Amino acid sequence: LAAAMNVKLDIFLDQLLELGFDGVGKDNILTGETAALVAQEYGFEPTVDTGDDEDLKPRPPPEDPSSLPPRPPVVTIMGHVDHGKTTLLDWLRKSSIVAKEHGGITQHIGAFSVKMSTGKQITFLDTPGHAAFLSMRQRGANVTDLVVLVVAADDSVKPQTLEALKHARAAKVPIIVAINKIDKESANIERCKSDLAAHGVEIEDYGGDVQVVCVSGKTGLGMDDFEENILLLSDMLDIRAEPDGMAEGWVLESSIKPMGRVATVLVKRGTLRPGDYIVAGIVHAKIRSLRNEAGVEIDKATPGTAVEILGWKDDDPPAAGDQVLQAPDEGRAKAAAHYRIEQKEREEVIGQMSQAEQERREHDRLRAIAKKAELEAGPKGGRGYKVSGKGRAEYSAVAEDGVEEEDGTKIVNYLVRGDVHGSVEAVCGSIMELGSNEVRPRILQSGTGQITESDVEHAQISRASIINFNNPISGQIKRMANDAGVTIMDHNVIYHLAEEVREKLSELLAPII
Ligand code: GDP
Repeated sequence: LAAAMNVKLDIFLDQLLELGFDGVGKDNILTGETAALVAQEYGFEPTVDTGDDEDLKPRPPPEDPSSLPPRPPVVTIMGHVDHGKTTLLDWLRKSSIVAKEHGGITQHIGAFSVKMSTGKQITFLDTPGHAAFLSMRQRGANVTDLVVLVVAADDSVKPQTLEALKHARAAKVPIIVAINKIDKESANIERCKSDLAAHGVEIEDYGGDVQVVCVSGKTGLGMDDFEENILLLSDMLDIRAEPDGMAEGWVLESSIKPMGRVATVLVKRGTLRPGDYIVAGIVHAKIRSLRNEAGVEIDKATPGTAVEILGWKDDDPPAAGDQVLQAPDEGRAKAAAHYRIEQKEREEVIGQMSQAEQERREHDRLRAIAKKAELEAGPKGGRGYKVSGKGRAEYSAVAEDGVEEEDGTKIVNYLVRGDVHGSVEAVCGSIMELGSNEVRPRILQSGTGQITESDVEHAQISRASIINFNNPISGQIKRMANDAGVTIMDHNVIYHLAEEVREKLSELLAPII
């Protein structure tokens, strides 16, 4: 810390003493929070590193998109069940030049491209139930540039029509209405239009700007017009994207196929090629191959197109709705995936905790800071060195033997480290089953990977023991724990581990007289 602040060590130690840190030598270890408080005393504005840098972030949007090349529009077809979504998609798929070029054997990959006679291309999303569309919407991302709202001419507006309308509006995506099944005798186009207008859709015929096309997915009537309209609207929307730089996209679908784990990715920016490293949600890939909807291997996927990607490194493929980001190298891809796994575990643990447990953890954290400051500042406290009284006021100090009391129950604190997520969960589960009204264990923190220095610090401050499951422990960590008086319980059999915890708990039970 002295070096970082450019202060000579002996001067720094003297100044620490002045600040009220009694008996601090050059080997003392400060927590991130304490170090930050000290640095503030020196006039710095420190930020505590939470490891967030490990994650990959999307690039900022381009400053002047108008100079970028256009990309194909991405279109989602929505509407009430049986109004003809699948039929329309099938018709479009068959009209696709891509499909024709490859004998028409198209595969379902969640999206397909239609190449128009003009050479322009439209990408249609074809994901059942629009699961990906909705989950991406929840994250505030629009994968679709426009929505086609299908209304059957013989059935008019129905509940799911309105539902689709609601989603399109929430996503602020323009819509084109396709009145389908106009070949049917019972078709009533005018009724559809007036029903739509009654639900606030500002259609052209009523003076609005929402285009309406009348089609038959069965006979192909009006389909050329339909495709034309989509292209016209996308020209107006002026959809552009940079074809270079680190690629970004979204997972539309994923599955396990005979050739391995696959995921269809819609590329939004940049270009993906075999050999590229990508991260999607908590998994990563070195792209082994890219395939289009005709099952043909392609050498690149440009913005506005969807490709099936092989080469996922982890046990599971990514999930529909996950954002895909290209990483510069394998190290960054792995680090980002690892960071996200830890993040997710933290969120899961917090999600499973009751409100009371969450508050208790926050208090624990505050108390840990207060306690550490108290230890470092000595009994008299120090000049200008303050910690908010909240943690201290609300929390009784930890007793010397490391056992706290809460509402008459003795609490024993643990930090848990395991090799994989599953084992961490199993360890936490089996420990939390133990205990009684008189004494119970509490897990302050759990995670995968080896014990870190900050785990030892955390354990020292909160008088916790560290449980290590199926991980190697470095000599340095062992020494550090030993010096800090922190117990590491090292096990690879859950039963033995639970036994040791149980023994510790029973030692604390009041003797039966
Ligand atoms: P989805 O549930 O919206 O995907 O609807 P489908 O595409 O499965 O169509 C439902 C039914 O309507 C099927 O029996 C189709 O053959 C029929 N259908 C779809 N489009 C048309 C059309 O333009 N004209 C006629 N007559 N029938 C159609």
